[in-house]
Amino acid sequence: MIAQTIQKFAETHIRPKFMEWDESQYFPVELFRKMGELGLMGVLVPEKYEGAGLGYCEYVTAIVEISRVCGSIGLSMAAHNSLCSGHILQFGSEEQKQKYMPNLATGKWIGAWGLTEANTGSDSLRMQCIAKKDGDYWVLNGSKNWITHGISGDVAVVLARTGELLDSRGISSFIVERGTPGFRAGKKENKLGMRASETAEMVFEECRIHKSQLLGNEGEGFIQAMKVLDGGRISIAALGLGIAKGAYLAALKYSKERHQFGKPISDFQAIAFKLANMATKIEAAELLTFQAADLKNRGVKCTKESAFAKYYTSEVAVQVSTDAVQVFGGYGYTKDFPVEKFYRDSKLCTIGEGTSEIQKLVISREILK
Ligand SMILES: Cc1cc2nc3c(=O)[nH]c(=O)nc-3n(C[C@H](O)[C@H](O)[C@H](O)COP(=O)(O)OP(=O)(O)OC[C@H]3O[C@@H](n4cnc5c(N)ncnc54)[C@H](O)[C@@H]3O)c2cc1C
Repeated sequence: MIAQTIQKFAETHIRPKFMEWDESQYFPVELFRKMGELGLMGVLVPEKYEGAGLGYCEYVTAIVEISRVCGSIGLSMAAHNSLCSGHILQFGSEEQKQKYMPNLATGKWIGAWGLTEANTGSDSLRMQCIAKKDGDYWVLNGSKNWITHGISGDVAVVLARTGELLDSRGISSFIVERGTPGFRAGKKENKLGMRASETAEMVFEECRIHKSQLLGNEGEGFIQAMKVLDGGRISIAALGLGIAKGAYLAALKYSKERHQFGKPISDFQAIAFKLANMATKIEAAELLTFQAADLKNRGVKCTKESAFAKYYTSEVAVQVSTDAVQVFGGYGYTKDFPVEKFYRDSKLCTIGEGTSEIQKLVISREILK
């Protein structure tokens, strides 16, 4: 039922516009307000904070269905739900949740989450953004790069160093509202894919944040961020799965319609076997993603399983969308068909929220314990 509702929503509100948004790099804030009305901006948020109160399996289903049509909207939905809202929901005080969750869960506010910096992506413990205590305030200086909703985010969770460099207990997390003096948006990135999902720099210059905006206790930020990413990786797996499904279904349909040498190209074993490979990989990616979602739902530690799902599904998204372009031949290389966009969008999945190499690092650490 959830899948059908979202398919209808995506066909009505996303499909007619997604290429226009992609071409102009337009971030459609108004769409996210509509998604909020449908519960898509607070899928995992309990009903008492005006969320949909659903679990990870429903969340994965929702991201898959949105991303089957447009990866950019899937990515923004994932960053809002899992990163910003997910962090406040997991580690915020009751007062913070009362203050922020209803607006985030209903899509009235857009959320951002800032961990990455220009010089520290995978190596986030080396972050240079610093928060210093001054009476009842923390003074934030530095910048965060590649932040989804770095310009349009109404509220951001920001990770900053409050202790020694390289100390995992030397980082804290803060909720910062747009409009706070000393907080401004910087450069917007011009990207290969995911072009309708806004990615920008956030700059902090003597930005004073009241101590009530600290999430959890001082020094807990990095450990919180790693736990948030366990959930976040499931959403990037879902994003990759949606992109792979969208590309595969387009290729499957086209292969039966396109005739060469007097027959549909699906009659050629080379194309049929390509489709068979695509379908098998998608099936395996789906099982890994739902395995991680199920563990997360049951509150079981799923660091390894979410890394399995994120790593495998992201790579499958790239492979399947590449094969889909091949099935379409020259038409696949044009913007008249959706597969070139799936191809461009898919690459983000192997980079965001921990690259494929970092997933292998996480998996190898877990299996070699
Ligand atoms: C569209 C988009 C949206 C994003 N949204 C957000 C967001 O909302 N919030 C946020 O905080 N960040 C966001 N990011 C940042 C993203 O999480 C980082 O780009 C990612 O973590 C990789 O960091 P990096 O780009 O600095 O690459 P680097 O860390 O510089 O890595 C470069 C290469 O080196 C490899 N590498 C690095 N270290 C190792 C190692 N130890 N072993 C093996 N290989 C290694 C990497 O795998 C990669 O191939 C976003 C990025 C993009 C592109």
